[in-house]
Amino acid sequence: MLNVKNHAGLVCCHGITGYSVMRMHIHFYLIDDLLIDTGSARLGKQSAGFFRDHAIRRAAITHVHEDHCGMAFWLQKNRDARIYIDPRDQAEASAPSRLPIYRKLAWKDRPEFNPEPMPDHLETQHCTLDVIATPGHYPNHLSFHENNKGWVFTGDLYVAPRQMVAFKTENTKDAIESIRHLLSLEWDTLFCAHAGVQTNGREKLAAKLDYLESIRSQTETLLAQGIGFEEISRRLFPKKHLWEIVSRGEWSAYRLVATSV
Ligand SMILES: [Zn+2]
Repeated sequence: MLNVKNHAGLVCCHGITGYSVMRMHIHFYLIDDLLIDTGSARLGKQSAGFFRDHAIRRAAITHVHEDHCGMAFWLQKNRDARIYIDPRDQAEASAPSRLPIYRKLAWKDRPEFNPEPMPDHLETQHCTLDVIATPGHYPNHLSFHENNKGWVFTGDLYVAPRQMVAFKTENTKDAIESIRHLLSLEWDTLFCAHAGVQTNGREKLAAKLDYLESIRSQTETLLAQGIGFEEISRRLFPKKHLWEIVSRGEWSAYRLVATSV
């Protein structure tokens, strides 16, 4: 099901897929004729209705993960939309995703699409978005900053103030730098692809920075005592996170710790 709300001049779309521990929230946003991410193919039927009812000419993708661009192929095919992505992800986007079963269940495979390289700025009728490289969750991850409105679109950089496991492509050190960079800019509202609209986004992102920095400093302290990453992960996260089990280690506390220094 797709919930659609207007928020200060843009349209926020919120979809829920799955059930129980696999229940997933996805948000994507429409600014004038420009979509920020497209949501997953699992939301396809509901999203297609929304996409048909709105004049969408372009989509800017934060990163190539299937829950962010699962409907890009549909928009290209049915709305003749232009899709922009980090040029380093163009080759991956042009082949269909090959996902482990838990991701297929949650989000469904992402069909291939043919994106164009992301420009430095995206202009719409009412907004100008600056494109900012924000590696961390994923090396080629991009965020979008609207200086006049005080908006920042952060894909998967924020998600939650605390994080217990990191994805296999994640790098905690890079995430710390990217969050610092975003916090150095002028904005107040954060638009997350999973947590939705955060009107007190600056405090929430700062809380995430504090949290990741505390993981880094604890890791540094324990490393200096000669303790390895495996043991540090066990000490900082004694209980194995359900997501680590479900994903068969594609997400892990080890990754969160080992890439923090
Ligand atoms: Zn992602």
